[in-house]
Amino acid sequence: MKYFSTRNKNKFCTFKEAVLNGLADDGGLFLPEFIPTFQKSYLNSLPNLSLQEISYHTASLFIEEEIPSYKLKEIIEKSIYFDAPVVSLSEQYKILELFHGPTLAFKDFGAQFMARVMEYFVHQGDKELIILVATSGDTGSAVANGFYNVDGIKVFILYPSGKVSNIQEKQLTTLDKNITALEIEGTFDDCQRLVKQAFVDEDLKTKLNLSSANSINIARLIPQSFYYINAVKNFLNDKIVVSVPSGNLGNLTAGLFAKKMGVPINKFIAATNSNCVFTDYLSSGSFSPRNSILTYSNAMDVGNPSNLERIQYLYNFNVEQMKIDISSFSYDDGNTLEAIKEVFEKFNYIIDPHGAVGYLGLKKYFKSINSKDEIGIVAETAHSAKFIDIVEKAINQKIEIPKRLKDALDKEKKSIKLDNEFSTLKNFLLSK
Ligand SMILES: *Cc1c(COP(=O)(O)O)cnc(C)c1O
Repeated sequence: MKYFSTRNKNKFCTFKEAVLNGLADDGGLFLPEFIPTFQKSYLNSLPNLSLQEISYHTASLFIEEEIPSYKLKEIIEKSIYFDAPVVSLSEQYKILELFHGPTLAFKDFGAQFMARVMEYFVHQGDKELIILVATSGDTGSAVANGFYNVDGIKVFILYPSGKVSNIQEKQLTTLDKNITALEIEGTFDDCQRLVKQAFVDEDLKTKLNLSSANSINIARLIPQSFYYINAVKNFLNDKIVVSVPSGNLGNLTAGLFAKKMGVPINKFIAATNSNCVFTDYLSSGSFSPRNSILTYSNAMDVGNPSNLERIQYLYNFNVEQMKIDISSFSYDDGNTLEAIKEVFEKFNYIIDPHGAVGYLGLKKYFKSINSKDEIGIVAETAHSAKFIDIVEKAINQKIEIPKRLKDALDKEKKSIKLDNEFSTLKNFLLSK
């Protein structure tokens, strides 16, 4: 399978180049030359397959001979080692739990897989790799965890000072060894801008072997399609709608991959918080990025979603075409609190603020189509305990913290503070 940049469809590269470069030279994002499709017989066999088996087959279609199959199996076994179960709230409402990984969020799928893929490519003889990653909260800890202790790879995580939760900060500042947390005085958009700038800086490019681990990396996106395919395997004869709490639109893009591969998902809901640029884009047809604002679902606080460029490409820039597959609705913090409370009281399920936004999107969609024969799946992207203050406030009672979160909370924070000037970051990286 060849890969190309969303800004130049005539210039191809290998999967390895796409993964190690993260972003294309022209600033575009990598996409496979086509989205592979499943054979009908394979789709029919899905109910008998495990998440790992589905992951292996799907990955092999995107990667083909660039990673030998025994090696790809090993990569899947080491990275997709936790489950993504669908739990039922009611006949119509299901929850796809994506928080069973080491940092309790869906980004573990992408980060673990990407780390193992990069480890494989680096061990093929490349020089030490430097990973730069901007995080609005959950990416950083997932990436840090994926790469922790991986030989030949150093990771620098940029996060906005004071704008991630205490638990998130602890998760990304308490690893050591090859992981360094950079606390940026600015917003997530500043962090993302700094990383993007670093990749186009000639000086840095020649002196360092830089790579990205954001959701822009194609190796983060591919594994995120695995759990959608796995989730619908028991609903192959139903009309399925999946609601995805969205920020940078990586998770949604991976879902669209799954749909284009042939998995019967009728509709996606892109549920956004007050950072509703994508919702506005679908309704107005014009894209106006803006500064992000802080909300309870802070991993979705993105004012300029990178993966829009991929979605536009997949739909030939045709917004009407997009709207056939995707609806989008936006909710503020007040709605989010009420939804957490509602899900708890109605279904006895403790949902996190991101999942709550997804739930609201699904509910609105069901109302708008006035149909009872579609089944809705909300992607629950994080464990509720990661947002304990908000969730406890909403349901007015204490919740339990899983052990793997408690362990990080007891450790000491280690970060390096930098301002949001690119020159500061550049000098810092060159001094390392
Ligand atoms: C990153 C994240 C999101 C948003 O996903 P995108 O791929 O950026 O749209 C939603 N929920 C949680 C918990 C996240 O960490």
